[in-house]
Amino acid sequence: MTQNFTGNFTQQESLPEESIQAAIAVMRHGRLHRYNLAEGELGETALLEQEFAAFTGAKYCLAVASGGYALAAALRAAGASQGDTVLTNGFTLAPVPGAIANAGCTPVFVEVTEQLVMDLSDLKAKIASSGAKFLMLSHMRGHIVDMDALMAICDVAGVKVIEDCAHTMGAAWNGTPSGRHGIAGCYSTQTFKHLNSGEGGLLVTDDAELAAKAIMLSGSYMLFERHSAGPDASVFDSIKLETPNCSGRMDNLRAAILRPQLRNLNTQCAAWNARYQRIEQGLRHTPGLQLIERPDAESYVMSSFQFLCPDFTAAQMSALQQRTAKRGVELKWFGADQPVGFTSRHDSWQYVTAQNLPQTDRILAGLMDMRLPLTFSLDDCDLLARIIREEVSLLFQAG
Ligand SMILES: *Cc1c(COP(=O)(O)O)cnc(C)c1O
Repeated sequence: MTQNFTGNFTQQESLPEESIQAAIAVMRHGRLHRYNLAEGELGETALLEQEFAAFTGAKYCLAVASGGYALAAALRAAGASQGDTVLTNGFTLAPVPGAIANAGCTPVFVEVTEQLVMDLSDLKAKIASSGAKFLMLSHMRGHIVDMDALMAICDVAGVKVIEDCAHTMGAAWNGTPSGRHGIAGCYSTQTFKHLNSGEGGLLVTDDAELAAKAIMLSGSYMLFERHSAGPDASVFDSIKLETPNCSGRMDNLRAAILRPQLRNLNTQCAAWNARYQRIEQGLRHTPGLQLIERPDAESYVMSSFQFLCPDFTAAQMSALQQRTAKRGVELKWFGADQPVGFTSRHDSWQYVTAQNLPQTDRILAGLMDMRLPLTFSLDDCDLLARIIREEVSLLFQAG
């Protein structure tokens, strides 16, 4: 008898009781705005910033309304202005090119490799051909490129790196936390990321001027001294009147529900990886299926799973998606002609001039992606792997 899966791919865990209690406390006192503070109170948002700065080892942290907002603010605060070219991954999610557009800049896409990370030889070529001074590096789906090699290339070329860590909160490369290699790291606390406040974002940096500009951009009025994880007031002197207020603050309610989750993040990351590794184990040596091998220097956190079927035709990929769906397994195929749900192919972002990325197109044509919410048990993961294995093998054998 064929076995089917009945779990829900979009059902996250409920929030920890401490988060619920903290949210109730904020609602009871009513001071939801981050700058609305009682005498001597720091506020949940400022406390979250302090705690996230400590978690990443950054000097400064700013909490904002979304991950995409953090990316755009970091880019502007790093000095990018209207019309500048910004390099980014040819394979990422829509908020990344969207953040570049939001800052008035133009994305130039860099090819992806079969390890699903930025192709460093194409990066070098595109730095040379575009003259770009900024790279918005997306650690798409939690896959981290060789950061030592990437930073060496960018440092030599004078390219400032902003890291999109929407999928790498809690991860590291060679012992350095993701988001701490470039000039700024940006994180998302949208429901499907590693912390869940519905919407939300965090920006970390060691650069005092970047931090001050991002704080002003986020809409701090002249209340920047209430940022306990921000730079000294003197840093604001030269920038406070010339930086526009583009409101995108986080509020105390969301910060309150995030703080207990942050304390538990390492445990959650281990739980995600246990699930990821169970599926990886179950899929190893499946004919026709290629796993994404992970380098030793990478400490990943995988809240989703990717695999390649490099030899499958479009018809086979589509058949795989349909056959697994019938058995309750939701695979996202990044090679489909039309974007479904979230978009992740460079040619679906038609506000950007069309670009030629043959390698990325070829890889995405054989790439499947699956969410791994923590509501799935390890037994669930065994079943998911079994179903995928059976269906891939069957299609592969049928040719
Ligand atoms: C979710 C996400 C972001 C940020 O998204 P927001 O919804 O704006 O918080 C950025 N990059 C990637 C790759 C993402 O998946």
